[in-house]
This record gives sequence, structure tokens and C-alpha cells, in this order.
Amino acid sequence: MLDLRPGDYVECIDNCPQFPISTVMPDTDRVYTIEDVRFIAGGCSLRLNELAPTCHKGGSCARGECGWDARRFRRVYRPDPQNLELFLAMLLTPKPAIADPITVEL
Ligand SMILES: [Zn+2]
Repeated sequence: MLDLRPGDYVECIDNCPQFPISTVMPDTDRVYTIEDVRFIAGGCSLRLNELAPTCHKGGSCARGECGWDARRFRRVYRPDPQNLELFLAMLLTPKPAIADPITVEL
């Protein structure tokens, strides 16, 4: 069973599906967040917060019945409020590469 949920961060690993329906495609190596996961015959379809697929009826899909095959993504991070805070704190305060620079005396 595919382990993806709304709110998860996912990376697109395949932007060339065999039978594309949407002309709008997520880019490979880019990270997106999942808006919704729908279970459909034979798999799962994802909606992304950052991108709206084109609809099988034409135009941009606003009704939520279209999406991208979940197999084309891999989960990179599942935020948990506490972990996310910690994660963001780590991003904002990177440790210096050299904690104790060696002083060379001549
Ligand atoms: Zn649609």
C-alpha cells in the first residue's frame, strides 16, 4: 500500500508518464506538497498544492477529480508539528562548518 498522505512533501521522480492525460506536469527533482490522495482503480492519484492538472474535460481542473499517478512521486518528509519546528530551526541556524578554527601561529 502506498504510504502518502495530505501534507506530505513529495519529490517527482517521473515527469514522462506512458499515457499522459494532463498537459501540466510536475517537474522531476522538485518538491511538492500533497493536497489530496484519491484511491482509484489500480492505484492512487495525487493532487498537489503547488500545481493544478489540466482536466480530462479540458481547461484547468478545479473540481479535484483529476490528478497525477502517485507512483510518480516519492515521499521526502512527513511534517509533524513538533518535528517541523525542529526541522525549521535546524534550517535557520546551521552549524558552522568548522566549530573551532585552528589558529596557525607563525
Ligand atoms: Zn478534472
